[in-house]
Amino acid sequence: MRNVLIVLSGPSGVGKGTIAKLLVERNEDISLSISCTTRAPRIGETDGKEYFFITKEQFKDKISKDGFLEYSEHFENFYGTPKDFVLDSLKTHNVLLEIDVNGGLDVKKAYPDAVLIMLLPPSIEEIRARLIKRSTESIDKINLRMQRIEYELNKKDLYDYAVVNDNLEVAVSDIENIINQEKNKTSK
Ligand code: 5GP
Repeated sequence: MRNVLIVLSGPSGVGKGTIAKLLVERNEDISLSISCTTRAPRIGETDGKEYFFITKEQFKDKISKDGFLEYSEHFENFYGTPKDFVLDSLKTHNVLLEIDVNGGLDVKKAYPDAVLIMLLPPSIEEIRARLIKRSTESIDKINLRMQRIEYELNKKDLYDYAVVNDNLEVAVSDIENIINQEKNKTSK
């Protein structure tokens, strides 16, 4: 059996974070990758837990040293997947990346064995309600994120799997089944 690099993507507010946390809590063999970002920590976020919070200078330096599996810019900040961190973790664990759709597609180019899973909302209105309930952002920012949702959902067919997050327990077990199935496949 191989360890699998799993990319979990989907529109902001779809519940990626909650699902990723449950997958890691319930499965000792799954570890969560930690991305680097230049955005400021939100209340309750800790460096080295949700993200490695670094400066734009540090981020550019890491790009020049080919230190990212992929990176991109969202809302004027940079986000990237640290290459060494992921490849080291894969030696002992299945590794879960929680990143955006374009990032996921870039990972697949760099690492064709990656398994891409897109998490879908039961409906677009549901996701807007979730973002407002989370209320860490202004309505303007929420509207910007809503525009991005359609863009991301349009790329669904480029992903290996799509899982609807209607019921949390069902979504988590669907993803666990996908991972178990993929662990038994041979490398590409
Ligand atoms: P947030 O600021 O809400 O934590 O994340 C904003 C967006 O950045 C989300 O869509 C999130 O999935 C994406 N993101 C987080 N980490 C990475 C990463 O390492 N690479 C890329 N490309 N996107 C990321």
